[in-house]
Amino acid sequence: MGAGPAGLMAGLLFARAGCSVRVVEKHGDFLHDFRGDTVHPSTMDVLGELGLRERFLERPHQRLSRAELRIGGREMSVGDLSHVRSATPFIAMMPQWDFLDFLREEASRYPGFRLTMGSSVRSLEEAGERIAGARLDSGERIRTRLVLAADGRRSIVRVDELLPVKDLGSPIDVFWFELPKRTQEEGTLRIAVEAGRILVRVDRGEYWQCAFVFPKGQAAALKRAGLPAMVAAIEQTEPRLGTIAGDLRSLDDLHLLEVSLDRLTRWHRPGLLAIGDAAHAMSPMGGIGINLAIQDAVAAANVLAEPLARGRSVDHLLGKVQRRRQRSTQLIQAVQKIAQDRVLAPVLQRRGAYQGVPLPLLLLQRFPALRRVPGRAIAMGIRREQVTSPLAA
Ligand SMILES: Cc1cc2nc3c(=O)[nH]c(=O)nc-3n(C[C@H](O)[C@H](O)[C@H](O)COP(=O)(O)OP(=O)(O)OC[C@H]3O[C@@H](n4cnc5c(N)ncnc54)[C@H](O)[C@@H]3O)c2cc1C
Repeated sequence: MGAGPAGLMAGLLFARAGCSVRVVEKHGDFLHDFRGDTVHPSTMDVLGELGLRERFLERPHQRLSRAELRIGGREMSVGDLSHVRSATPFIAMMPQWDFLDFLREEASRYPGFRLTMGSSVRSLEEAGERIAGARLDSGERIRTRLVLAADGRRSIVRVDELLPVKDLGSPIDVFWFELPKRTQEEGTLRIAVEAGRILVRVDRGEYWQCAFVFPKGQAAALKRAGLPAMVAAIEQTEPRLGTIAGDLRSLDDLHLLEVSLDRLTRWHRPGLLAIGDAAHAMSPMGGIGINLAIQDAVAAANVLAEPLARGRSVDHLLGKVQRRRQRSTQLIQAVQKIAQDRVLAPVLQRRGAYQGVPLPLLLLQRFPALRRVPGRAIAMGIRREQVTSPLAA
């Protein structure tokens, strides 16, 4: 259920192992809600194990091996990936719809893979304690031995209270919008920090994809303040953009992306397993949500694909997938929580301008080796999964 990164990668791996897979996606295409462009070395290593890395890299993308941060009028590099041990020691910036289309295309090579777009799962069907299938909004009923809930942070397993959620809280939300590129600037990811404001820019060739970060719940107030105030806030945060008044024409161009940080305390029950954001909504910090979703899909297939392909029950194995993935998820969420509460929230609450560079950033500048630590953790994640699920004859 759900054709995001988790659902499509799981669909590919289970079909590759010889299972009959039906992926149901409520949207008619992949061009919905923006959810990140970052494909990390850990994901490209998985593609490499599947023999797909070269085909993936043939698709248009940009390569990012560090981000540029501007704070207090000074610029610096943060997160150095050049020392990561991977055949692809960079982040491939590829619009998510392209990445999803790539996964769809590769999964479609396997006869057991079937994708139904533009159709929602309305409810899951219970047979006693077990989840035995799903009912679509068309009225169609699907009977299955395993429902994989890969339907994101508003998953049906949360809405229908089938599995318990623990909210960790997030102090930020984001406006997402495009601005034309008027200047030549090096660097595919640029972060500008000023007191009370953060602007992140992703180079998409012709234009900047921008994220304006602000305290949670203030979207309506920011919009009420009007377009000129918003334009001024962006220009002051990132003066190198120049004048953007003519580029940002309406407040409707600002799309609100609500950030959450939470996880299920139990990812499964008989007949049902949640993976990806459905199991753990990630903060956009570090751009790791897609990659974690892919790791979950790999772990699920490693444990479950072979017995499922042989027609066996896997109910007793579902807890193994959670145990395999939950420790790294908890650790990454703990780091994200500290970063958002101790770094982002104070920046957004700050009123006085930065007079210099905060000490932790100065240390990163002075000791390049320190820059590699966050770089490696972001690039490779924690407890990287290797594909061990079989390739059916
Ligand atoms: C503002 C923001 C920026 C982010 N930036 C990044 C980034 O740069 N890099 C990164 O790695 N991560 C980023 N993330 C996190 C990342 O988007 C998610 O972690 C990742 O998309 C999770 O993948 P998924 O497959 O689990 O879920 P999703 O990508 O949410 O996919 C779930 C799919 O299920 C479908 N669906 C939902 N309900 C139903 C239903 N009832 N029936 C059928 N289909 C259904 C949805 O339409 C969707 O296609 C960001 C998140 C936010 C909020």
